[in-house]
Amino acid sequence: TSGRGFYTPNQASATALISHQILVLAPLPEPLDYRHHERVAAGTRVRVPLGNRHAIGVVVGHAPHPDMDALKAIDAVLDALPLADARWLDLIRWAAQYYGCRTEAMLRTALPNWGRSGRELQLPVLAYRWNGDYPRGEQRQKLFDASQTACPVEQLKAINWPIARTLIKNGNLEPAELPQDDTVAEVGPTLMPEQADAIARIDGSNTPWLLEGITGSGKTEVYLQLAKLALSRHQQVLVLVPEIGLTPQLVNRFEARFPGQVIHLHSALADGARWSGWGQVAMGKRPILIGTRSALLTPMPRLGLIVVDEEHDPSYKQAEAPRYHARDLAVVIGHRLKIPVVLGTATPSLETIANLDRGRFQHAQLTRRAGVAKPPATELIDLRSLSLHDGLSDHALTAVADTLQRGEQVLIFLNRRGFAPVLLCHQCGWHPECPACDAKPTVHREPRRLWCHHCDHQAPWPSRCPTCAQRLDVIGQGTQRLEESLAHSMAPFPVTRIDRDTAGAGGAGKLLEQARDNLPRVLVGTQMLAKGHDLPNLTLVVVVDADQQLFSGDFRAIESLSQTLIQVMGRAGRAEKPGRVLIQTHEPEHPAWPHLLAGNYRALATQELEIRTRSGLPPYGHMALWRARNPDPGIALAHLNAIAQAMAPHRHTVKLLGPSPAPMERRAGQYHAQLLLLAADRKSLRAALATPIPPAPSRLWRGLDMDPHDL
Ligand code: ADP
Ligand code: ZN
Ligand code: ZN
Repeated sequence: TSGRGFYTPNQASATALISHQILVLAPLPEPLDYRHHERVAAGTRVRVPLGNRHAIGVVVGHAPHPDMDALKAIDAVLDALPLADARWLDLIRWAAQYYGCRTEAMLRTALPNWGRSGRELQLPVLAYRWNGDYPRGEQRQKLFDASQTACPVEQLKAINWPIARTLIKNGNLEPAELPQDDTVAEVGPTLMPEQADAIARIDGSNTPWLLEGITGSGKTEVYLQLAKLALSRHQQVLVLVPEIGLTPQLVNRFEARFPGQVIHLHSALADGARWSGWGQVAMGKRPILIGTRSALLTPMPRLGLIVVDEEHDPSYKQAEAPRYHARDLAVVIGHRLKIPVVLGTATPSLETIANLDRGRFQHAQLTRRAGVAKPPATELIDLRSLSLHDGLSDHALTAVADTLQRGEQVLIFLNRRGFAPVLLCHQCGWHPECPACDAKPTVHREPRRLWCHHCDHQAPWPSRCPTCAQRLDVIGQGTQRLEESLAHSMAPFPVTRIDRDTAGAGGAGKLLEQARDNLPRVLVGTQMLAKGHDLPNLTLVVVVDADQQLFSGDFRAIESLSQTLIQVMGRAGRAEKPGRVLIQTHEPEHPAWPHLLAGNYRALATQELEIRTRSGLPPYGHMALWRARNPDPGIALAHLNAIAQAMAPHRHTVKLLGPSPAPMERRAGQYHAQLLLLAADRKSLRAALATPIPPAPSRLWRGLDMDPHDL
């Protein structure tokens, strides 16, 4: 090949050539072998020739190669030190295998943009040390006092950055390593007995923990104290949070307690800042990393503690390939490193509850809350046959107006997270049920069909209600104009919509800041508003559209509705004023309501877990989902049919459901279809998935989703 004749080692035969296995960032099934005149450590990025171009890759091994001359040479070594160790590379490989993607795809997800494109990792100076005599002047003396060993840049900035910069320029302050210790800027409060107990049990353990407690029960304080203990052992700490903007207070409190020690990785960061922050953590320069889902894949050489806040949050599952679940992977990492993983929440996922019951997780509970508000008064509004105004009943509108007149704030909660449309009779509340099983069928528009994704039963779509002959509506679309119509009917009180569109990349923080003026106003919002922000004058919450989840075909819908509603209910009346929560529904008799209205999440979870046991669904069964899409109708379905046929020999251990069109079949000019695999044990599922399947036709995209969400 071309590389051969051109290669001239500097010391001819004296220099041994070493073959390197490179995981190239390109859609290849396996790592490729390249040679280099010296050994480049695993975890180092390199640039290599690939066909007639160049690509970035990471060294993953050094297997000897029988024909060294046939190998192409590494072009350039991009890192002076490896970015990650072998344990991390193993984890990436493991995760790729588990989630059914190429290792390269998982590696790509783990690296920030600049890391993938081969940019050099330049780490900023994080701390300075005093070098010289005792200075004159109060400000300089303060800087002198602070920098006797090493002073984080953040702290210099807090004292006097212009003067510090001058001192750096003339050499009175010289670069130093960030002090690696457990210095805190503030001492935490005296711990409550339950907090102290949780910390004593968790610290030094090597298991996952459910830290269960409502908002305000003191979970964050437990995280902070555990982090301090880890830092005192020179360990690193990873804190995962669900979505930017949901937990600004958590980030602020870590930064306040550990100034200069925290890196915060989130989606709003510019590429350069992300790469630098990632690098500082990967090189062990900063001890604490707080970030969303993908932060989990950052190499942390001295990791000693993982915290997953709001562990039940569905955003921990990535909705595009590689479809990993950050909480589940965190538990795997904890197990491999033998370190504690703390899963904090008020509303644990059913997976986590099942793991507690099986003795795989341990339990710590915080049951007290400082300055407790009374639980809100909850009330169902039966929407059947009521006249609605852009989704709101008269009763709800009156309550909103009264609350504003009293000078208090209102939250109108819209429940929107990609749930499929639902068919419902507004007159009498009739909705389709699967005649063959417990589940709710999914509404498909083309062809017009009710399709049960749990047992494959199909039925036509009635256009009129079978009980009262009213025209049937597809619900979940009447609320688009809600904000406008409220602004009109509630004038002059301001109405602010807070969701992903209006909040922008920075999260809901700024918009919520306005609401902290405590003046009467209406906030209209989605999940973003469910938690994390204290608005003492918010006394009324109206839940507009719980039904879309109540009647959804997704088996996790009730679990997720309960988690959200319990959280939303916590938003009403948090200070001395009593709160009120109104929930609109077409099915006031649903068995979930008594527990939900009482705020009893665990009772609800028990009810749901019984249903899951009966039907063999997760966490008691194991699922995988083949997803496929194609611009032409029918192609994706036909291909999944072929896959189902290939897997037919496994039908005695694995239930194959479908293929069926995806709940939202037509998206972005493509027809989506899915094939569900359900097995009682992982081994059977693995065996079925190992079956050779037909190759994908051209223009057809297909992907496997392990432990799928959003069915
Ligand atoms: P959570 O994370 O469960 O919402 P936090 O840890 O944020 O709870 O605690 C809620 C509030 O109570 C915070 O203002 C926190 O500073 C305070 N707090 C937590 N623990 C204690 C304690 N032991 N003594 C006094 N205040 C505390
Ligand atoms: Zn009806
Ligand atoms: Zn069914």
